[in-house]
Amino acid sequence: MKIKNCYGCGGCAAVCPSGAITLRGEVEIISEKCIKCGRCELLCPAGLITIKK
Ligand code: SF4
Ligand code: SF4
Repeated sequence: MKIKNCYGCGGCAAVCPSGAITLRGEVEIISEKCIKCGRCELLCPAGLITIKK
């Protein structure tokens, strides 16, 4: 899942405990690695991430 309109603060990747977020120009969440902890969703200052539980 790619995150649109991200300004690249990197916070979501820093808090992800499973290394599921890559930051290469744009943020992408690798769903196979995501454990749905919700940390990235809580942290994103722009509210860009929605994790489907
Ligand atoms: S919800 Fe998924 S992508 Fe987000 S911080 Fe948790 S494991 Fe990482
Ligand atoms: S926390 Fe939000 S704005 Fe920051 S890199 Fe992640 S998706 Fe982009």
